[in-house]
Amino acid sequence: MLRYITFGFGIAGVLLGLFACAPNPKAEESCNFVQNVYGQRISWKDQVPIPLMVHSNFPKEYLPALERAIKTWENSAGRRLFAITSTQYQDSASPAKDGQSVVYWLHNWEPEKPTEQARTSIYWVGNQIREADLRINDKNFDFYTDTSNTNKGVHLESLLIHELGHILGLKHIDGTDNNSVMATYLALQVKRENLSDIDKEALSCEYK
Ligand SMILES: [Zn+2]
Repeated sequence: MLRYITFGFGIAGVLLGLFACAPNPKAEESCNFVQNVYGQRISWKDQVPIPLMVHSNFPKEYLPALERAIKTWENSAGRRLFAITSTQYQDSASPAKDGQSVVYWLHNWEPEKPTEQARTSIYWVGNQIREADLRINDKNFDFYTDTSNTNKGVHLESLLIHELGHILGLKHIDGTDNNSVMATYLALQVKRENLSDIDKEALSCEYK
């Protein structure tokens, strides 16, 4: 049975179904990962690097920011975690559960969610993620890589680091006195490019 979770800007929604077909697996510490109904951490396990396709709408000048965001996680893990298999993906204009993990750059966004900078959905079976889709909200925000030119600028690399964390299976990490890249909110015109110790520790629970 496939289950999924979607992370939006400050919103975490879970759909769960009850499904018993085997003895319950043993629960694990969360390590800040999403857990399935049995309390197991979900991640891509040994299915890395994660094949990621980039939609053709994603501006080409921003691809280096995506590559740097990927490197940030990979440098911590000491291994490859993502493999961009295409930067010209066009098969689907809007995200769908189609077996492909895609980074979308969307010019349209739900009118009732104008404060959502991006949204990542992950789909898993058992304790293994099978697909992830990342949507970036180009309708309501401006993005920048060096200096923000407008007061609604989002530092793209910081945003991508956060969303890639969700793709890896990490959930939000909020708390006082933590500089986690997985903190729920990324303020406008703020850079958050370095993994904190808590992020590195979490990552190592599933990707060694
Ligand atoms: Zn998030």
